[in-house]
Amino acid sequence: MKSYPKPKNRPALELCSECGLCDTSYLRYAKWACAFITQHIEELEKKVHGTSRILDNPQQLYFGVHQAMHSARRKDPIPGAQWTGIVSTIGMRALERGWVDAVLCVQASPEDRFRPQPILARTPAEVLAARVNKPTLSPNLSVLDEIPKQGIKRLLAIGVGCQIQALRTVQDKIGLEELYVLGTPCVDNVNRQGLQKFLDTTSHSPSTVVHYEFMQDFQVHFRHEDGHVEKVPFFGLNTKELKDVFAPSCLSCFDYTNALADLVVGYMGAPFQWQWLLVRNERGQQLMNLVKDELEFTDMVDKGNRKAAVQQGISIYDQGITLPMWLAQIMGVAINQIGPKGLEYGRFSIDSHFVRNYLYLKRNHPTKFAQQVPAFAKKIVEQYKLPDS
Ligand SMILES: Cc1cc2nc3c(=O)[nH]c(=O)nc-3n(C[C@H](O)[C@H](O)[C@H](O)COP(=O)(O)OP(=O)(O)OC[C@H]3O[C@@H](n4cnc5c(N)ncnc54)[C@H](O)[C@@H]3O)c2cc1C
Repeated sequence: MKSYPKPKNRPALELCSECGLCDTSYLRYAKWACAFITQHIEELEKKVHGTSRILDNPQQLYFGVHQAMHSARRKDPIPGAQWTGIVSTIGMRALERGWVDAVLCVQASPEDRFRPQPILARTPAEVLAARVNKPTLSPNLSVLDEIPKQGIKRLLAIGVGCQIQALRTVQDKIGLEELYVLGTPCVDNVNRQGLQKFLDTTSHSPSTVVHYEFMQDFQVHFRHEDGHVEKVPFFGLNTKELKDVFAPSCLSCFDYTNALADLVVGYMGAPFQWQWLLVRNERGQQLMNLVKDELEFTDMVDKGNRKAAVQQGISIYDQGITLPMWLAQIMGVAINQIGPKGLEYGRFSIDSHFVRNYLYLKRNHPTKFAQQVPAFAKKIVEQYKLPDS
């Protein structure tokens, strides 16, 4: 198998998520900023939103501090975007309206569509060229030293949770006058080698995949170069083969919904084929207002009960059971008919991943366990019966 270069400085060792901070002079803050050396989500929530999440508030327990949620999509989807391109549109409009001098986003390397290439985009065209997920660990923060060099004072940063936690910790040291943070949820990321294994194990044509997503209909949708979509039920994934594919950082992460962004754009809390917008604070509302007229909205949905499916999934995953494809397909159809929808699907996904990550940390990094699992994640995991060891 082809091997890919690893970053040089990795103070978090095996748990490094390659966010890029340690490729810059901000390496000196890594001990506090790195999400996998010093997890401090709740403290940063207070700094950014003025309050940390209230654990007795069921919506905040799961989705973090927020003032509004929406299910929406672009009326006119951007071709080639991950979903309908809401994230790219916000980036482009922020530049066009002169709100910011640059947008931190990530394009793909010209040689490899899945190899991330972070940039400080100065034009809408450069933001547009960064559309679509690079489903690999991405060193977005590796461009931080460029910000003062390029005279950038107002920045919109787009990123996933671990990148944003590090950015929030050092944001006062960058010399910015304005910082807007647009986050996406993120889970189960992989390094480039892991991505290859995932594609080789799961898709019928790994070399032609241009885009994939774990969708709300309990299937992975792979879009290929010729436009056709291949669907593989979650329950048909080769769990045994894939157990070691996900990056150890992602197996140790509890910031699925990007708690420290001003605005989060994902899909997991929205009905099938809609995007999910989580407005965390006033600045997030301003970002959303930039594109509101270009969106159509539908009602938020919150239906079903996730608990039995999560509990069943714990042992299937833990024992590395791979179901025959015919059974996986039947289960997928059944759960899609009667299973959790909308926000309850979001909770299903959060519960499943938090339990898996909790067990991973307890077994593989027992000395980090207590500090790395935030109180909200402990409370969520406590709802389930866990395997003994
Ligand atoms: C690795 C990963 C996992 C995700 N998992 C989930 C999930 O489980 N549930 C959920 O609801 N949403 C998830 N998302 C978010 C979702 O897939 C979409 O990115 C989001 O809905 C925005 O879609 P869009 O069409 O508006 O984005 P686009 O307009 O296509 O823009 C995508 C933006 O993502 C940025 N980006 C691409 N790759 C990366 C990367 N590796 N790291 C940081 N930034 C990147 C680009 O800079 C670009 O600006 C994930 C995103 C990523 C990157």
